Amino acid sequence: METLELQSKVHDEARQGEAYSPFAIDPNNYKKHFYIESYGCAMNFNDSEIVASILNKEGFGATRNVEEADLIFLNTCSVREKAEQTVRKRLTEFKKIKVSKPGMLVGVLGCMAERLKAKLLEEEKLVDIVVGPDAYRSLPNLIEEAETGQKAVNVLLSREETYADISPIRLDSNGVTAFVSIMRGCNNMCSFCVVPFTRGRERSRDVNSIITEATNMYERGFKEVTLLGQNVDSYYWVNEQTNEAVTFAMLLEKVALISPELRVRFSTSHPKDITDEVLYTIAKYENICNYIHLPVQSGSTRILQLMNRTYTREWYLAKVNRIKEIIPDCAISADIIAGFCTETEEDHQDTLSVMEHSQYDFSYMFFYSERSGTLAAKRYEDDVPLDIKKRRLAEIVAMQNKLSAKSNQKDLGKTFKVLIEGNSKKSDEQWMGRSSQNKVIVFDKKNHSLKKGDYVHVKVNSCTQATLLGEIV
Ligand code: SF4
Repeated sequence: METLELQSKVHDEARQGEAYSPFAIDPNNYKKHFYIESYGCAMNFNDSEIVASILNKEGFGATRNVEEADLIFLNTCSVREKAEQTVRKRLTEFKKIKVSKPGMLVGVLGCMAERLKAKLLEEEKLVDIVVGPDAYRSLPNLIEEAETGQKAVNVLLSREETYADISPIRLDSNGVTAFVSIMRGCNNMCSFCVVPFTRGRERSRDVNSIITEATNMYERGFKEVTLLGQNVDSYYWVNEQTNEAVTFAMLLEKVALISPELRVRFSTSHPKDITDEVLYTIAKYENICNYIHLPVQSGSTRILQLMNRTYTREWYLAKVNRIKEIIPDCAISADIIAGFCTETEEDHQDTLSVMEHSQYDFSYMFFYSERSGTLAAKRYEDDVPLDIKKRRLAEIVAMQNKLSAKSNQKDLGKTFKVLIEGNSKKSDEQWMGRSSQNKVIVFDKKNHSLKKGDYVHVKVNSCTQATLLGEIV
């Protein structure tokens, strides 16, 4: 589970679109309104859309104006201490609103709710409702309970729950790209990670409900779906009637066959589980994007063992080589943790050299943040001093900036098929879109009659470290 920065970015870009926003629906249709904020990974963002659907059925309308809300929900992340501090600070900002609107309820959802459970109610008196990632169906009852003045909690984890029958309401959508969750939970026990404790055991969603949702999105004009899971490569679903088993590669193919006009992305992969079958399926279909997010976390086999990542440096590099062999123009991104317990300068250099070998297009980079309850917190001392963690992280970021700039430089003069997602941030005279390699490309609209959701070929003329700039050809 990775990618903290993703969410806020998606929110901002999406605000331009408002194509399928529930906010567009006449608010007078609803007796009460809810306001929801999502923090952390794409899974949380998609969960908020599932929560919106459950509340909508109960007659709650979505509002973007927190002052208007009868219900405020924060869908939280627990991956690092900083993520939880952000939530606690946000809660203090609701104090004033609650004083002016006594009946208003405040709820905390997601991984922080699951990690802290009822303790959160003691620590944050403002909070009325605490709900874990597997208990969103119980929200209507919990709201009723809280409306009587009681505190309401449900943090039961499930081995079955996939919300397969609930069609998410797209919040702040650009009307072009959408997340589709294919599985929940994680069976890996990376020693630094809270996810197995906050999202429970792995379970794969019924393949038919995934295809139905993706087809429905395509028929509504969406042109890209991202299949979501903590570790998508271990997707495995068996039809109890026919005993037909569906692997991730088979699922990818089924989604790609919905329409060649529908782009397919997925996140997140695990180096130990990504198969040649998946790589050949990506290579076979033009509409399955040539981009793989392949967290490495560390380049040192000794540290990888302490992290319980279940692969070695050599295994990881072999996977990267295999990806480039089967899909030569595939973009790869990673997650990297600097300063894990007992990390030496030599281990750190191993991480820098894995980055150089893998030539990442971009990465999510953090320094180790001990999470109580994890294996690492129980077994190892968090012994790398903060200043060394920060210095090593700075070196990793500098390495990545160099690699990203080099990767974009290599694209100068090339032409890419781009899916238009909306206006560029800088000017309404320019479109913003992405290549199959998930690179952001900005180009002038000129007098081409194009719209969001259209594909267009763009020749790259210049670039920054983060963005390619081009013209329509
Ligand atoms: S694969 Fe590891 S890091 Fe990712 S969610 Fe599972 S336990 Fe956490």
